[in-house]
Amino acid sequence: MITRFAPSPTGPLHLGHAYSAMLAHDMAKAAGGTFLLRIEDIDGSRARPAWEEQIYNDLRWLGLSWPEPVMRQSERLPVYREALQKLWDQGLLFPCDCSRRDVQEAASAPQEGAPAYGPDGLIYPGTCRSKPRPEVMPDVTLRLDMHNAARDISYVEGGATPEIHKTSSETLVSSIGDVVLARRDMGTSYHLSVVLDDAAQGITDVVRGADLAEATPIHVLLQQLLDLPTPRYHHHRLIRDDAGRRLAKRDDARAIHKYRKEGATPADIRQMVGLPAV
Ligand code: GLU
Repeated sequence: MITRFAPSPTGPLHLGHAYSAMLAHDMAKAAGGTFLLRIEDIDGSRARPAWEEQIYNDLRWLGLSWPEPVMRQSERLPVYREALQKLWDQGLLFPCDCSRRDVQEAASAPQEGAPAYGPDGLIYPGTCRSKPRPEVMPDVTLRLDMHNAARDISYVEGGATPEIHKTSSETLVSSIGDVVLARRDMGTSYHLSVVLDDAAQGITDVVRGADLAEATPIHVLLQQLLDLPTPRYHHHRLIRDDAGRRLAKRDDARAIHKYRKEGATPADIRQMVGLPAV
């Protein structure tokens, strides 16, 4: 078993991150497997080296260890580009120059009964899909042509009793739509990078928060389109604050470094998030 923790260095790690990382670490250890770390730093406007340092520091303090070197997404842009080219060559991508506002306006009158929002926000109304496509893949925002790309997909959601989760190609079209696979400013996207990196690292079990479960059908579809294996998924409960809200990066009150400063021990953190003592 190979598991991973894949934080974005855009803020402090909070209790929710600690839970996710420790769970993935515990699972790999219990199975005699390997826990890997990956830094998801494709968003150059928000990622900071100081946050990355703090992540290493907090995770080591929690008692986690991982093989070096750590994979960093910012060093893998050519790999992402190559995969985009593969999809482009199959006619599965189209350039899009819609602004957020354009999408909002065009999507403001959805068909009756059709969902307006997918895992990436408003479902794309298709404005640029039928425009002529250039021969050479341009360096702009690229969307997946879901009408052509969609197929029935399924994956195993692990746990005590594993379940098969299925999504039909019709649902991919109606509830997810033409997701962005390359943003103009970063040349890739979370969805594309996560899929390529999980495959490159040989991840067998993806352990992450339940908030990412609705993006998983996109990931499984991309694995199929790019001939990559589909790992097992374990979407875990989210750690919430006293008011029941899920924790966010800006929620500095729950930051691990704050608890450390106040004298908490790693065992205290495990207890706070409901993990058994080690
Ligand atoms: N980098 C993502 C985050 O920090 C996690 C990606 C994943 O686990 O698939 O939310």
